[in-house]
Amino acid sequence: MNRFGSNGEAFHASIISSYVSYCGLATKFQYIHGEVPSFRNVRMINGTALHTALELIHERKLWDATDIDLQKLFIDCLRIAEFEHDDHEVPVFWNEDKDAQKSVLINDATIMLRNYVRKTENRNCKIILSEAPFELSIGDGTQYRFEGRIDQLREYPDGTLELLDFKSGVRVPNNDEMRRMYQFAIYALAVREGKFQKDGEMINIGRLPDQLTWYQLKDHMEYLKPTPVAPIEERNGKYTDSYFKWFNKQAITHSLDEIKKITGNNRLRALNKVYFNTGHEKGPGRHITKITDHRINVMRKSIIWACAAIRMNIYMPNPSACTGCRFVDTCDMYLDGTDKEFVEADSFLPAEAYQLN
Ligand code: SF4
Repeated sequence: MNRFGSNGEAFHASIISSYVSYCGLATKFQYIHGEVPSFRNVRMINGTALHTALELIHERKLWDATDIDLQKLFIDCLRIAEFEHDDHEVPVFWNEDKDAQKSVLINDATIMLRNYVRKTENRNCKIILSEAPFELSIGDGTQYRFEGRIDQLREYPDGTLELLDFKSGVRVPNNDEMRRMYQFAIYALAVREGKFQKDGEMINIGRLPDQLTWYQLKDHMEYLKPTPVAPIEERNGKYTDSYFKWFNKQAITHSLDEIKKITGNNRLRALNKVYFNTGHEKGPGRHITKITDHRINVMRKSIIWACAAIRMNIYMPNPSACTGCRFVDTCDMYLDGTDKEFVEADSFLPAEAYQLN
């Protein structure tokens, strides 16, 4: 059986995130008994293509690229993601109308990249590391080896060091969540204590980044018509500080009657006191959080405990994560002892606890 961290095999940030923040058993099913997926979903190759496009924008300084240039760039990156990436032999699961699905991806990517290159902070920063592989070893006696890759480490003219993770999905975590994310903690530890591959050498950064940024690329999508929205203070739900600040600076405030007139929507409720105009972006892009040395040291300890538990083959179920879990059937077979392979392969419960025929 494959145990992460044993026989020199490295841990990855995603395993620890899944183990600590989601469910120990789900981690076991996905990573320890993981099978090669039978297909790649479109979200994955879209994300890979966007990452490559951003890397090339910085490398080639494409700050004045036109929409056509950005479109061509993305089409090329999408081709590479589909046919030349490490896992290119795993087929992509496209919709029936592959061409239509591709053209939506290309159109959206062009808008996102257009607004990315327009941002002063993206143009004026110095890229320290980009798509950089790292090695990290942490422990308390026993050392646990980590490998991974950070999306970007940049420095601003005022010396601020920022670690960025580019996200192409729709979900943005809130502030409380961001400050507790193990993926960020492991990347921050890699920046403080690990080694990165850069231009054929291994280099150290040697200090914590000043800020950690969830870069939500979908924020760069634009409103297609004047769109009324509720003021952020009057909504349920939690948002990042970055979104809060951005919203209150960017949203246009008018009386309800004026907004009805502007948007042509007479059925608006009193809640709709602000609106965004056609072409306005949907968010700040950069959702920034800061962490202290103390917090990162506390998280470092729990990462070590999680590594030790995985190495000892300890995987606990988390019932509050079962809704929507894609391993429910496997999990039932495992817990009920109806899958011989699992029973023989590990020691979650003693073998006598299972009722195998
Ligand atoms: S069904 Fe629940 S306990 Fe089982 S793996 Fe999924 S989340 Fe974990």
